[in-house]
Amino acid sequence: MYRVETIRRLREARRLAVLTGAGVSAESGVPTFRSPEGLWSRFRPEELARVEAFLRNPDLVWAWYAHRRQIIRQVQPNAAHRILAALEDRYPDFTLITQNVDNLHRRAGSRNLIELHGNLERNYCIACARPWQEEDDEPQAVPRCPDCGGLVRPDVVWFGEPLPQEAWSRAEAAARRAEVFLVVGTSAVVYPAAWLPEIALESGAYVVEINPEETPLSGRVHDAIRERATVALEALWSMLES
Ligand code: NAD
Ligand code: ZN
Repeated sequence: MYRVETIRRLREARRLAVLTGAGVSAESGVPTFRSPEGLWSRFRPEELARVEAFLRNPDLVWAWYAHRRQIIRQVQPNAAHRILAALEDRYPDFTLITQNVDNLHRRAGSRNLIELHGNLERNYCIACARPWQEEDDEPQAVPRCPDCGGLVRPDVVWFGEPLPQEAWSRAEAAARRAEVFLVVGTSAVVYPAAWLPEIALESGAYVVEINPEETPLSGRVHDAIRERATVALEALWSMLES
């Protein structure tokens, strides 16, 4: 079930880039948005995850993020996060690009990490942009900036907002120069992140998808490994090390 060609490419490559999505954190107990029991079925994220919603009902949107922050603080990085961190030492040119906002890659030790959609652990004032750090208790109502009284929002990318430009350019460049590109645990439907595997394919990379489900990308990659992230990465890791 694991292709010899995939192991050979992973062994020989010097430039590896990886794109991860919510699926890589699923086994830590962070729900994905599109799973049946995921957050998106209980809440309508298109209603919550946008600036208009925040301005209309900041307390509700804040409470939703407070709830998500509470989940991520109770969980731990899993073997997939740890192996992706360890892979960094194997390649002279390694880039980990994530759509996740849960901070788990950083907690697992990844260093060359691009957070395309921001990070739930950071907040800032919408009026003066000053970073806001919570004290001990997570406030249930939206906090106000101590400097200017502006509303404090999470530092994540909402619907209708552009990606942070520098993060996007670095991600795009990594996808272009990668010899092997891994796509782990993403439904590959959220653009522009979903362009990255396309860019890698177009630039001649060997593209491997790890996902228990088929995605719109599956038909075009060189190897689609139908496995959970921890299982597939543990298997690939032990084959690389042997
Ligand atoms: P998604 O919810 O659209 O897709 C998750 C994918 O992971 C699915 O294709 C699913 O089949 C796969 N998956 C489920 N369990 C898996 C496992 N154990 N191993 C490997 N794959 C598994 O998530 P997305 O593609 O990341 O896009 C959704 C958006 O939601 C992103 O913008 C992201 O910022 C946000 N989001 C982030 C988090 C997080 O930070 N953990 C959680 C939910 C959503
Ligand atoms: Zn302010």
